Amino acid sequence: MRGHAANRPRGALRHYAGLLGPNAAAVAPAMLERDVGARLTRLRSAGAQRARQRLRPSRPRMRALQAAPGGKLRFRDVPAPPPPGPDGAIVHPIAIATCDIDCPMAMGMLQMPLPLHLGHECVAEVVAVGERVQGARPGDRVVVPYEVSCGACPPCRAGLTASCASVPPVSAFGMGLATGHWGGACSDLLRVPYADAMLVPLPEGIDPAAAASVADNLCDAYRHLAPHLPAMLQRDRDAEVLILAAQRRNMPFGASLPLYCGLIAKALGARNVCLVDARARVREHAQRLGIEAIEPRALRRRPRAPLVVDTSVMHLGRALAATAPDGVCTSSGSLHRAARVPIAAAYVRKATLHMGRTSARPLMPVVLDLMRSGALAPELVISTQAPLDQAPRVLGEHFREGSIKAVLTA
Ligand SMILES: [Zn+2]
Ligand SMILES: [Zn+2]
Repeated sequence: MRGHAANRPRGALRHYAGLLGPNAAAVAPAMLERDVGARLTRLRSAGAQRARQRLRPSRPRMRALQAAPGGKLRFRDVPAPPPPGPDGAIVHPIAIATCDIDCPMAMGMLQMPLPLHLGHECVAEVVAVGERVQGARPGDRVVVPYEVSCGACPPCRAGLTASCASVPPVSAFGMGLATGHWGGACSDLLRVPYADAMLVPLPEGIDPAAAASVADNLCDAYRHLAPHLPAMLQRDRDAEVLILAAQRRNMPFGASLPLYCGLIAKALGARNVCLVDARARVREHAQRLGIEAIEPRALRRRPRAPLVVDTSVMHLGRALAATAPDGVCTSSGSLHRAARVPIAAAYVRKATLHMGRTSARPLMPVVLDLMRSGALAPELVISTQAPLDQAPRVLGEHFREGSIKAVLTA
């Protein structure tokens, strides 16, 4: 470990107090604004199943990595998932990547109640499928999207899978109670409810460890660039992509999203890509990838950019202020209840702001194609790779040291 103070986990008291704070109060109603009944039914049935398994265990047991307050990571012995159902599949994760949100979440800093089962980016091997499943067979290698979506409702058919109407809002793996108890990928088995709609075959010749992040962070990076960049490069071949990442050194989020943004911008033809990050190790990693990297204070001396990707979590206003006239500011967003936004300047410059959660599933085949073509090598972003068996120790160190991207393999 080098440089500044490491990330420090929050103990139980501070974590649970945070869940009663103003940020949580702003997020919770948004998560519950649709289908409160469906959400409660899911929680009740999960609770009832747990109680039944405790009294009369009928299912085999498996390991699942649990994050608990105080930065505690450990494998728990839990019942294996129930049978897949007619449309579902049971998969065995073989490469699990940390998402940039995993560190602050596992450290108890976010509005996601702990304990929870960690992991929502993975490549897996199919173990069993329901009788109606046609697209996957046991033994197939697949990428599992972070979000749970049915593929058949109106939002899913429109490609807005993160807003699937068949499941409660923000249904996703690996974030515990907050996203609906679907299980975590850092475990021996995971149940995927809509196998044909969700699972994407891993193309031949692609390393599972390299592709694990296609489930979330890589698609997140892609959606910030692909819709906007081609037209901008047509107007100006040297148009700059500015990626705003951590604006202070002790930002607990991982740094894979901003680095993926840099790699994808280059893969899509951008010549001028600049990353702004206060963390020296992230700037050094970016430079090794051929991406210009500067400290936040150097941003003041630069001209505004036509495309600004905001992955700073906290500084949307700064990202908008750095957006050139008629430019686009696209933000990965945050769970803060409000942000200072320079409305008048953004209005006068006619800036367009995009934000919100990623609908990853429709983008996954496109990103895998980019990898298969050789234009994108996301494995260059991985900073730690280790066997899943060592997850408690390796992820514990990864989070405390504020490293970039960890992948666990099984
Ligand atoms: Zn994620
Ligand atoms: Zn749907």
